[in-house]
Amino acid sequence: MENPAPLPARAMTPHERSVLDMLLDGDFPGAVALRAQAGHARVVAMCQCGCGSFDVDVVEPDISRADLPNGLVPQELAVTDVDGMPYGAIIMFVRDGRLSYLDYHTWGDRPLTGLPPIEHLSMVSR
Ligand SMILES: [Zn+2]
Repeated sequence: MENPAPLPARAMTPHERSVLDMLLDGDFPGAVALRAQAGHARVVAMCQCGCGSFDVDVVEPDISRADLPNGLVPQELAVTDVDGMPYGAIIMFVRDGRLSYLDYHTWGDRPLTGLPPIEHLSMVSR
């Protein structure tokens, strides 16, 4: 991951929100709080490599924090191409019980051109 480039806070795009919603779907510790936060999350920085990874800030100060240690949300998305070949993963970091950073990474030398299409994603519990 390269240093994220700060930018004026903006709403997530519909695609970014769809990816985040998919990652936060289901039942895991902190899930309810994190899903509530997603509705208030603003994108505040983007990875400069073009992969589409982004930092978020949850702008609602009174929102419930997730009871999770700093680090990864306990599930992630596997990224699989149309031939069924896994080529990457999307993970979400939490800091101080709040959504903090969504990271998309791939394996090998596959070029990164933003977040993958929703149909390439599937849930993996950690
Ligand atoms: Zn990147």
